[in-house]
Amino acid sequence: MSHGFDTLQIHAGARPDPSTGARQTPIYQTTAYVFRDADHAAALFNLQEVGFIYSRLTNPTVAVLQERIATLEGGVGAVCCSSGHAAQIMALFPLMMPGRNIVASTRLYGGTVTQFSHTIKRFGWEVKFVDFDDLDAVKAAIDDDTRAIFGEAIANPGGYIMDVRAIADVADEAQIPLIIDNTTATPYLCRPIDLGATLVVHSTTKYLTGNGTVMGGCVVDSGNFDWSATDKFPSLSAPEPAYHGLKFHETFGNLAFTFHGIAIGLRDLGMTLNPQAAHYTLMGTETLSLRMDRHVANAEKIAKWLEADDRIEYVTYAGLESSPYFERVKKVCPKGAGGLFTFAVKGGYDACVKLVNALEVFSHVANLGDTRSLIIHSASTTHRQLTEEQQEAAGAGPSVVRVSIGTEDPDDLIADLDQALKQATS
Ligand SMILES: *Cc1c(COP(=O)(O)O)cnc(C)c1O
Repeated sequence: MSHGFDTLQIHAGARPDPSTGARQTPIYQTTAYVFRDADHAAALFNLQEVGFIYSRLTNPTVAVLQERIATLEGGVGAVCCSSGHAAQIMALFPLMMPGRNIVASTRLYGGTVTQFSHTIKRFGWEVKFVDFDDLDAVKAAIDDDTRAIFGEAIANPGGYIMDVRAIADVADEAQIPLIIDNTTATPYLCRPIDLGATLVVHSTTKYLTGNGTVMGGCVVDSGNFDWSATDKFPSLSAPEPAYHGLKFHETFGNLAFTFHGIAIGLRDLGMTLNPQAAHYTLMGTETLSLRMDRHVANAEKIAKWLEADDRIEYVTYAGLESSPYFERVKKVCPKGAGGLFTFAVKGGYDACVKLVNALEVFSHVANLGDTRSLIIHSASTTHRQLTEEQQEAAGAGPSVVRVSIGTEDPDDLIADLDQALKQATS
């Protein structure tokens, strides 16, 4: 039976609790699970039977969330983990070795730029940042050691839409997986797997949970990549020494990546999602489409209002006709361009600082994807350490603020922006 998105976001992965009949998914607050007998324990440890051993690896509440997100994304399996940044490491880990590299978009969440530029070098991994609108440059950056291409469907700080299909074709030609961070679009607005992506990563901290309560991440596998077509991915295609020589692709077929993520990734890296967090995120997913429709409607209305205001220099929102991505967004995100955008205030740095201070409904925080409207002035916060040139390149120049439009009454948000802009530009 196939169901629509609105049904799946409530039901996928969940069933009445077999022991109590509880209709809502219980929070299985337990570390370990009793084995039926010694043979059962052995079968679980040999991965001959799927079941629960220890909550660093698997937990029934987390398993429901994994199945739900995999279903919404159109994947065969998913592994949840402790944060979006953990999900990025978990996605790359089975693919990479010291000396290998990935090709990534220049337009990424700031924290990801830092993780990729500095921290993963300690693992011996390299990242080449390329403008994803220049397909020749993407092709030219791929070499024999490249093991993945990485980009965001709707990229932070807002307004840039990646041509997922075009980049997926480049990845296919090079026989390497395309990883899409779908955090800011969510599976409701964008389905990267339908557009050719191999893996999808999420910060479930953002829209999937939706109310700014818990950290989490997820890696979804499309099941579409042939890990054995080349010898580039020995952890999946060859005997894996970290699991007594098991060949994951031969044994688990299109679930190889998911099983590897649990049996080795979670087991040895320990970036586990806790069942309480999974519970909050399950609550969030139930209303995902309702919230995203409202985020998009509010963002469109407010972006248009700002664009028409004299105090504003420009607005970068792909839902505006003035955006260079207005046509592309209809292919990549047919239900709307999301809830995130930036705008530049006449009066520069000082006006932005005043604006942020004067807002009453908007909160000044380093987060996005909340029901509450959020604003951040990157140049005085997240991008403070960068030179002005670097700030401009990142779309976070001194006169630019980023907003994550919430689901409040849009007229209240406009009134709040209006009174704060008056104070900021007088
Ligand atoms: C927040 C975010 C991340 C990192 O996720 P955390 O849950 O904060 O670790 C990665 N990518 C994007 C697009 C994000 O917005």
